[in-house]
Amino acid sequence: MKKVSDFFGCKVFDDRVMKANLSAKVYQSLRKTIDEGAKLDITVANAVAAAMKDWAVDHGATHYTHWFQPLTGVTAEKHDGFISPSPDGGVIMEFSGNELIKGEPDASSFPSGGLRATFEARGYTAWDPTSYAFIKGNTLCIPTAFCSYGGEALDKKTPLLRSMEALNKQAIRILALFGNNDVKCVRTSVGPEQEYFLITKEMYEQRRDLRFTGRTLFGAKPPKGQEMDDHYFGVIKPRVAAYMEELNEELWKLGILAKTEHNEVAPAQHELAPIYTTTNIATDHNQLTMEIMQKVAAKHGLVCLLHEKPFAGVNGSGKHNNWSLATDRGVNLLSPGETPYENAQFLLFLCAVIKAVDDYQDLLRLSVATAGNDHRLGANEAPPAVISIFLGEELNGVLEAIETDTPYAGTEKTQMKLGVDVLPKFNRDTTDRNRTSPFAFTGNKFEFRMLGSSNSIACANIMLNSAVAESLKIYADRLEKAENFEDVLHEMIRKTIKDHKHIIFNGNGYDDTWIREAVEKRGLLNYRTTPDCMPHLLDEKNVRMLTSHKVFSEAELKSRCEIMLENYCKTVLIEANTMIDMAKTEIAPAVSAYVLELANTVAAKRAVDDSIACGYETGLLKKLARLEEQIAVKTDELEEAVMRLKDAEDIETQSYMIRDAVLGKMGGLRVSCDEAETITAKKYWPFPTYGDLLFGVK
Ligand code: ADP
Ligand code: MG
Repeated sequence: MKKVSDFFGCKVFDDRVMKANLSAKVYQSLRKTIDEGAKLDITVANAVAAAMKDWAVDHGATHYTHWFQPLTGVTAEKHDGFISPSPDGGVIMEFSGNELIKGEPDASSFPSGGLRATFEARGYTAWDPTSYAFIKGNTLCIPTAFCSYGGEALDKKTPLLRSMEALNKQAIRILALFGNNDVKCVRTSVGPEQEYFLITKEMYEQRRDLRFTGRTLFGAKPPKGQEMDDHYFGVIKPRVAAYMEELNEELWKLGILAKTEHNEVAPAQHELAPIYTTTNIATDHNQLTMEIMQKVAAKHGLVCLLHEKPFAGVNGSGKHNNWSLATDRGVNLLSPGETPYENAQFLLFLCAVIKAVDDYQDLLRLSVATAGNDHRLGANEAPPAVISIFLGEELNGVLEAIETDTPYAGTEKTQMKLGVDVLPKFNRDTTDRNRTSPFAFTGNKFEFRMLGSSNSIACANIMLNSAVAESLKIYADRLEKAENFEDVLHEMIRKTIKDHKHIIFNGNGYDDTWIREAVEKRGLLNYRTTPDCMPHLLDEKNVRMLTSHKVFSEAELKSRCEIMLENYCKTVLIEANTMIDMAKTEIAPAVSAYVLELANTVAAKRAVDDSIACGYETGLLKKLARLEEQIAVKTDELEEAVMRLKDAEDIETQSYMIRDAVLGKMGGLRVSCDEAETITAKKYWPFPTYGDLLFGVK
């Protein structure tokens, strides 16, 4: 047995490697850049580049790439060789500080939403020294940010780093007010739990919907689904166990702390959770994790589906973004403290999050909006599209006591006076109701559960960090001017609770009555689809907040809104075209062939004796003939709806047409095809069924 500690992080140019391979001076200077964002000197960059190259070559690398996260949702890389010719006709391996710091990939093939005029195709990548370089295959990957020559961000990492900086700045102001002047830096940490499905490669290959869109567009409900709850925490099947073992090893080599793995509720569904780390590293790691999950699956004859809703009627896959903020001294600011003063600080940070989530419900909702995730949110399985916060009975009781100046039932004190009373220890709430909440406090962190399984976690964290930075800024502005700090603090916390308690909901989020209450009584937002929420990115209040913290420029926001809507439209369009294609060339011919067999059987029977009833065949034949007709008509209707999209004057209009017309037609066609599946002889059905797919991995 290989010991994990012997190979953990062996493919990462991490702190251990840096220390061992850089001079003390260079190491210290680099550390200053990593920890405090100090500017990097070119001589230091040259020394780091040389050490990085030597280390990479020793580990089998021949190429390097600037690795970045464009707005397409996947990661991008362009490989360059280390080799350059030497005068004696041989080659030497070279890599300079300049090549490490800056790259110039051809940016024209990445979406920019109008930010880059076509004549200015160049963009550049800039090294993010806070995320370690690593080796993948034969390539040294250097995590970078990706910008246009005008300096506008064309990726997800740049605004993420900016949002972390914004939050850092405001949190430090607050901490200083509480006398914590020694804190140099506050960072957010994230542990994303990743759900996925595993199916066999053989079956995957037979379904064009899975190959082209990542999800099934047809498929009748199997006789057995998830109703027995026998999969969750059930025994992991040998093939899946072998997959998980190799996956863990590969992730560990990359320094990714994959920790837990188990089956999920749906058959063939599983989950992987890493140990939490700083948000931008967690983001890089999650992108890598998704990539490695798919690569390792291929080696095992499997396919890893990261789509949010691969199978209708079966639980979809999400990603739980566990989020907290901590100081460079290791103090978690979302952890109730030991002293009354620490508790007042904790309550203020807690209130900042409550206020942020309420004020920017729309931004949080749209940060997770994709065509795929629309299938989860708003269907009663994942958290609903309405955002609310779960705090648990105890913490809720404390807040109520503060709001109303009444005794908190959990203590003998007569009043919850901030900075005086000690808070009770909160027990971790693990009830079912907690698990249905889109945004739950789980003891010392918040768990944002609306992310889709294929989402980059960058988007959600950009909005969360920025919104919390805004709350903290408002608090700091007031507190810095306060004559009586404690009074103002107490009043501010009370006011936050009063103004924002409508977002706190400790009941069952899957309940239909909740959605009604949320929308009608509490006035919470319910944006069910991507076209419903995405345009709100450009609402004045949102633009003002995001630009004032320098997380986005207005031009960047406009471009992002456009790109997200474009992604939505393209995704559904590919699905619609795939459906049309499968209905015409696979499903209709299969039904027709079976109808012919039935007709032939009737004819053959009658040739023997024309008084034979043939009730079974004729009944079935009539039903199938009717469905055949419906399939033809509905395919035409869907085609027409798709054709009409060409008339849309802009992308927003097109997204509304898709939401209001195309998706409905797709659903209609599917119903007829799925019904036909249930009465067509299996040997005629052109591709594996839900039962085959979901129970195919042994
Ligand atoms: P579960 O939510 O399944 O009960 P855990 O609470 O143990 O499981 O952890 C879920 C995820 O939350 C893990 O990725 C873990 O590393 C992460 N996590 C734990 N503590 C924190 C924290 N303080 N900040 C951010 N993430 C955290
Ligand atoms: Mg969880």
